[in-house]
Amino acid sequence: MKYYSTRDKAVRMESAEAIKMGLSRDGGLLTPETIPQIDEAFLTELVNARYQERAARVMGLYLTDYTYEELLGFAENAYGPDKFDTDAVAPVRKVDDATHCLELWHGPTSAFKDMALQMLPQLLSAALRKTGEDKTVCILVATSGDTGKAAMEGFADVPQTRIMVFYPKDGVSKVQETQMVTQDGANVGVCAVVGNFDDAQAGVKRIFSDEQMRATLADRGFFLSSANSINWGRILPQVVYYISAYCDLVRDGGIKMGDKVNFCVPTGNFGDILAAYYAKRMGLPVGKLICASNRNDVLTDFLRTGVYDRNRPFHTTMSPSMDILVSSNLERLLFDLSGENDEEVKGYMAALSKDGKYEVSDAIKTAVKEQYWGGFCDEAGTAATIADYYKNKGYLIDTHTAVAANVMEQYRKATGDETVTVFVSTASPYKFCNHVLTAIGETPVGDGVELLDQLNAVSGVTVPRRLAALKGKAQRFDMTAEKQNMDNVVLDFLKK
Ligand SMILES: *Cc1c(COP(=O)(O)O)cnc(C)c1O
Repeated sequence: MKYYSTRDKAVRMESAEAIKMGLSRDGGLLTPETIPQIDEAFLTELVNARYQERAARVMGLYLTDYTYEELLGFAENAYGPDKFDTDAVAPVRKVDDATHCLELWHGPTSAFKDMALQMLPQLLSAALRKTGEDKTVCILVATSGDTGKAAMEGFADVPQTRIMVFYPKDGVSKVQETQMVTQDGANVGVCAVVGNFDDAQAGVKRIFSDEQMRATLADRGFFLSSANSINWGRILPQVVYYISAYCDLVRDGGIKMGDKVNFCVPTGNFGDILAAYYAKRMGLPVGKLICASNRNDVLTDFLRTGVYDRNRPFHTTMSPSMDILVSSNLERLLFDLSGENDEEVKGYMAALSKDGKYEVSDAIKTAVKEQYWGGFCDEAGTAATIADYYKNKGYLIDTHTAVAANVMEQYRKATGDETVTVFVSTASPYKFCNHVLTAIGETPVGDGVELLDQLNAVSGVTVPRRLAALKGKAQRFDMTAEKQNMDNVVLDFLKK
């Protein structure tokens, strides 16, 4: 199967090439040319399969230049017991007969980013082999917290790769910062940037588009790529868990084969919920896709009106991984819903970069409303939902997951829809101890990893082992750079 650019369908390549490049040179996102179809027979076979086998089967439908054995091997490495704290990998927890929660944070960094970032380095390494690449790839990441750690954990000591992460000096949680500056691996680098996430992100983009820099690095035997969710190698492993959740529900009697389920997803860059959309387009019986935002409600407005308008205040919230005003992966949805009209998509994206807004066609508006329902939840609502789940359901959830749970209830009230609904849990509550403690009525004492014990003492919920281990871990990195110096940091890093 070939992949092409959402902004120019003439740009076509194999999946290995698409994963290696990350992003098309025209700025478009590389997207599969056709969406493979699955049926009940396919799902029935997966019902009793392990997660690793499900992953290899589903990914194999898209990555036709990788063999099943290869993909199964990658899945065994990515999702094995040394990485994940449950054999189920992505377990579905029952809340009540109509409500289930898909837990995606059982991996090494306790956020859902692990689901894709444990897989991507292996897909990328194989892509280097398959395309005969002799240079070393350097992954540059700007992170607001979760992606940077998960990417380093995935790429640590992977041959023919280096990874450099930039995070905003005062823009990540204490636990997140500790996770990053203690990272192991001879090929990793971490640097704090004086400024906010946008400064770090803009710096990385500048380096990517600097031809002089590319030439210098090529001379030294390096090329740059991205581990951001614009890379198809990050979206595809996420399609797997929606299909897996469906199979689990069938296996455990929550639904019958063929019944529809809704998914409610806490959304930022639109990667996770886009993966759910692909699962539905493949033929998985899915009803509504419920898109949950925090106070940064640009997607709620878009899904309701068809107007995407980023000209609005940016809110810093207790669910920081969803604090985002430009959701890059929406471009892939527009491409699909426009009947793969690259010119139309190019027009929307040009308007977005020029005016910060665009309005989609009536045809796309209708299609969006059929597939999606959008809602948002403010800070008070997030805290109240954490308290409600903890006190009334005995379930400790993190701030991002709470946004999803809250919006799911809003959807039910607004529509009366009683379809079985799975909401997605994207992070362990231990990554955001102080907000979670406050929400359940405790006063946080101390900061950072000190709070792990307090939350554990109050809730009795086990601390994820890698987070607990942070307490004894030596700091390896303490570099801070001004934003205009980020290119020198990269040049230094790639000297060795
Ligand atoms: C990244 C992230 C999200 C948002 O996912 P997108 O794919 O960007 O929409 C939600 N919750 C957590 C905890 C995350 O790390």
